[in-house]
Amino acid sequence: MTEWQCLTVKCQCLRMRLRNCGVLDIRDCTASAQKVVSALSAYDIPHEHLLTRDIRRRFPMFNVSDKDQAIYDPNGGLIRADTALAAFQKMFKQFGGTLHDKELVRSVKPGSPAKVVTSCSIYAASSVVIAAGPWTGKFASALGLSLRLQPIKVIPMYWRIKPGQEEAHQSGKFPCFIDARGETKGSFDMYGLPCEEYPGLVKFMSVSLKFPEGHGFKLAPAVGKAVAELVTGREPTYNMKPFKIGRFDTLAKL
Ligand SMILES: Cc1cc2nc3c(=O)[nH]c(=O)nc-3n(C[C@H](O)[C@H](O)[C@H](O)COP(=O)(O)OP(=O)(O)OC[C@H]3O[C@@H](n4cnc5c(N)ncnc54)[C@H](O)[C@@H]3O)c2cc1C
Repeated sequence: MTEWQCLTVKCQCLRMRLRNCGVLDIRDCTASAQKVVSALSAYDIPHEHLLTRDIRRRFPMFNVSDKDQAIYDPNGGLIRADTALAAFQKMFKQFGGTLHDKELVRSVKPGSPAKVVTSCSIYAASSVVIAAGPWTGKFASALGLSLRLQPIKVIPMYWRIKPGQEEAHQSGKFPCFIDARGETKGSFDMYGLPCEEYPGLVKFMSVSLKFPEGHGFKLAPAVGKAVAELVTGREPTYNMKPFKIGRFDTLAKL
């Protein structure tokens, strides 16, 4: 069971909308498809490797060439960020956590204890996790860390579904998709979702290969678990070596 599925089971009362519509990852050559197949196989993740004729038969709404292949992950899907965040917050409070919403963090001062200065108060803590998303660089530089973080603007786009094809683009019939055919050409990838947000529109986003992004939310339960294990001194579930702060080649003053 994935971390998201565990959370969905624990938060049934919230009816967190995890739509299990599958993910279709389209590639334009065998080498590129094989990379995905190898990664999924290494972790025993169920998947199907589809050739052009299979894609055309099962997912006729995708325009593929004779060389294209795809990997279908039947466990993939989409989740509504608002209900997911509400679920996280509910569980956090159930386990004794206190939320301080609408409180601006002005600075974090390392030490024993560390101090967090906000617009409302000053807090002392044995550990502080900075999870400020695109604003993280501001806190990091104040702590003497040079992390080379660069926020980039992402604009969601919507395709209008051709009249008469609305039904075929609903979740259940239309999967989430990653179109990675730009990878070998050095251009951009795209990913998108079934018609969910607005009637008659399919959402998609382009992802620059220079600055890969747009994957942070789906990893959130696993990242949260890894961070919680770090700050509470428990044995890490995941291999944390690739995420060591030293990967930024920085001089930390912490
Ligand atoms: C248009 C778009 C589409 C995306 N689509 C996907 C997708 O399909 N799948 C996916 O997995 N990911 C997607 N992402 C990426 C995902 O949203 C991010 O990776 C994820 O939200 C990162 O979570 P975070 O908690 O690290 O940061 P954030 O979600 O950015 O949260 C940071 C929080 O810190 C708060 N904060 C900052 N500074 C302060 C301060 N001084 N005091 C108090 N609070 C502060 C901010 O208000 C914010 O609430 C998308 C992103 C965008 C922009």
